[in-house]
Amino acid sequence: MKRLLLFDIDGTLVSGGPAKSAFEDALAETFGTTGPEGSTDYSGKTDCQIARELLRAVGMSDADIDRGLPTMIERYLSVLERQLDSNPMTVLPGVHALVDALRERDDLALGLLTGNVEGGARLKLSASGLYDRFAVGSYGSDSEFRDDLPAVAVSRARSTWGVSFPPDEIFVIGDTPRDVSCGQAHGARTLAVATGRFDARQLGQAGADHVLQDFRETARVVELLAG
Ligand SMILES: [Mg+2]
Repeated sequence: MKRLLLFDIDGTLVSGGPAKSAFEDALAETFGTTGPEGSTDYSGKTDCQIARELLRAVGMSDADIDRGLPTMIERYLSVLERQLDSNPMTVLPGVHALVDALRERDDLALGLLTGNVEGGARLKLSASGLYDRFAVGSYGSDSEFRDDLPAVAVSRARSTWGVSFPPDEIFVIGDTPRDVSCGQAHGARTLAVATGRFDARQLGQAGADHVLQDFRETARVVELLAG
């Protein structure tokens, strides 16, 4: 193993599904509110960070938020699991073929770097036939701050493969400017894909080393990640 590839989940590998409504149901049931009216920018944030921002915005104290969060996440996961059958995730174009091709190479190690709590990542990717393809992960349950997650992934990768991956042998792959800045904060290379809410121009402006429309051209993406 020479290089570590760390994939985001939502907007990068899969999209859609019941997560947003499950999250809001759990927030309402636990805290009696889903936060302020209007749209909130969830892109690239971790689950607990999103909950905290929504609840702070309606005046809740961090102490009250911290007290309720474990229950809220538990409820979120049980609603998510229940609803995934009727409202499945969509695997984004080219993802299955790309992951298969990357796994055939013995110089590449595949992992996750996501704002999802670990249980949410497992449910979403298991339902998509992708969970067992990633040997390690770092999750929103490891830290509320995405920029902390590369170091967690690298440490787990070292335990799993017995290899220390230097920053320039790591790719952080995601669909938002926050994925890009997270990779940059670690000194990693970044690949952004415009299958989420941001277009190629915005991702280029965020400073991604590489920007793709999607993962349809398997050979080209493999070349880019392995080259
Ligand atoms: Mg994403």
